[in-house]
Amino acid sequence: MITLALDFETANERRDSACAVGLAWIADGRVVRRESHLIRPPEMRFSPGNIRVHGILPADVAGKPAFAEVMAPYLADLGGGVILAHNATFDIGVLRAGLGRAGLPVPDFAYLCTVQVARRVFPAPEGCGLGKVARRLGITFEHHDAGEDAYACARIALAAMGETGTGDVHGLAASIGVPVTEVPGEGARPAPGRGVISGRAMAVRPPTSASLSFLMRGSTGNRYTVTLEERTSGAVLRCTCMAGRFGQRCRHVKALEVGDITDLLSDNHSDLATLATRLVRVA
Ligand SMILES: [Zn+2]
Repeated sequence: MITLALDFETANERRDSACAVGLAWIADGRVVRRESHLIRPPEMRFSPGNIRVHGILPADVAGKPAFAEVMAPYLADLGGGVILAHNATFDIGVLRAGLGRAGLPVPDFAYLCTVQVARRVFPAPEGCGLGKVARRLGITFEHHDAGEDAYACARIALAAMGETGTGDVHGLAASIGVPVTEVPGEGARPAPGRGVISGRAMAVRPPTSASLSFLMRGSTGNRYTVTLEERTSGAVLRCTCMAGRFGQRCRHVKALEVGDITDLLSDNHSDLATLATRLVRVA
């Protein structure tokens, strides 16, 4: 079974704006291969906030290959293996959106989120952000470089396997009660009443028109509910916090938009995959 960690950086708030990717393969209890590439996004629009995070500028990627060309050598491993990612719904969302934007078929993906793993195996009051978990484990890396982030993610999974005495990601997932989530590919959605795609059991409900809602922890410990609302202009997230009630895109909404589950209290992480597909569609 192929296991590889995946990390994307994006040019702006859109999931189909990947500007860098990092990959790190795990085998025999260690990281055996690392790749990292810059990607020319479909639009050369870089948000200042994104640049602040990753430091990649339009000039850095202007001459680089586009998403489909960069990712082509890795799609077989990504589709056939288990993907590890820290805040996996973000990276899986970027992968799906990038393939969709390029007009390529989106295969089934199976993933394990290392934020969820770290919360069970290496919990701490400071939380389970990538940099914090890596520092607790003594993993040195350069945060927000895609190749380095993928490497750190892989090392966190390896540390968790060591801590739990499990030999692979399925064993790890089973031992801590976190599912390996399977996201069905586009064009492969099941007919109603069928629960199996390509012989694999489905772990994620297909998108429905039912409302999605998430319980979030505020910075002062208050709890807020973020709900997806359908408007004629498209789907929007609404939050019950003060900023949200004034109609602003608050930090709880922004976190869920990028698949950041650091402050997610409700036990519906898998709904984020559904949320991503619905927000992508209206973006
Ligand atoms: Zn809010």
